[in-house]
Amino acid sequence: MYWLGRGDESVPFYTQMSSKVGFGQLLKFTGCTILPCRFWLGALSSTSVKLLLSRPRGFCAGVERAIDTVKKALQLWGPPIYVRHEIVHNRHVVDELKNLGAIFVEDLADVPKGARVIYSAHGVPPSVRKEASQRHLIEIDATCGLVTKVHSAAKRYAEKGYQIILIGHRNHVETIGTAGEAPDVTSVVESVEEIERLTFPPDIKIAYLTQTTLSLSDVQEMAAALLRKFPKIETLPSSSICYATTNRQMALGQISMQADLVLVVGDPKSSNSNRLCEGAKRQGKRAFLINTAEQIEPQWLQGVLVIAMTAGASTPEAQVSACVERLKLLGVDGVEEVVFTEERIFFQLPKQVLVE
Ligand code: SF4
Repeated sequence: MYWLGRGDESVPFYTQMSSKVGFGQLLKFTGCTILPCRFWLGALSSTSVKLLLSRPRGFCAGVERAIDTVKKALQLWGPPIYVRHEIVHNRHVVDELKNLGAIFVEDLADVPKGARVIYSAHGVPPSVRKEASQRHLIEIDATCGLVTKVHSAAKRYAEKGYQIILIGHRNHVETIGTAGEAPDVTSVVESVEEIERLTFPPDIKIAYLTQTTLSLSDVQEMAAALLRKFPKIETLPSSSICYATTNRQMALGQISMQADLVLVVGDPKSSNSNRLCEGAKRQGKRAFLINTAEQIEPQWLQGVLVIAMTAGASTPEAQVSACVERLKLLGVDGVEEVVFTEERIFFQLPKQVLVE
């Protein structure tokens, strides 16, 4: 990355952009002189601390839909509305919905017979749907469409006689849901080592899928290991990792290269928030996952010139704003949003809450 300096303004431009526009064109267009980023940073006074805000960050279309589903159900039918598992992995969101009258349960046995129950964005295995039907519950499915896509693929592969390798965290509710579509033929793997221990014959019909919120580089490594071991292994034409996970990782990856400190606003239970933080650490950065502004320690900023900040797909923007305000109090004197891409994705609400 380079910084373009013009007067007292500064704008980060990425090599990706310059290759699209043409470097000469870019300089002519902006009338700027170009300085390598490190040179520019060296010219900053010791008290100048800049915050680069990654965009896109925070809520994805699937999370927006899930939260709106609960709110719409509460409006339509009033409390209590039962939700199986946290609707999205974020304490602030869950607390707000609890205050509105939502009741979160892990076990359908805790939902009174005949009541309405909403499935979270992470999805559920078929066994849960069966239990709901036995208990005469009224189901409202807020499973993200991109999770459903992976469920459908698992079913299709199983029907065609494939063994399925599911790359994911075996205790994560999304992985449990996907594996539950074809439990007899699905093996969950979390690492290259686990792939090496798989014992299927090399000529077996086999396919792999992944959890939607994993690290792109982890999955790349594991997919390569699967291909080495099972050269004929199949997968979906497009990655099972969703657009929101991909965009947030790519966006942060670009700005974190220039940062001395990386902050990811997100819940400790949020898979994609954890992966963002791990990705920054893998780049050799000091990185912290924070759920509230108060968790930002003043000493983290010592000697820091540039901070990169993002938020996981289940983090409300209000939490990001609170963190920005705290950072300003702690000495940040410049905030700049750096756009990797614009997201214009919208998922329609489940039909059950559109009926009235
Ligand atoms: S993170 Fe991806 S899969 Fe999960 S809810 Fe958002 S868009 Fe859907």
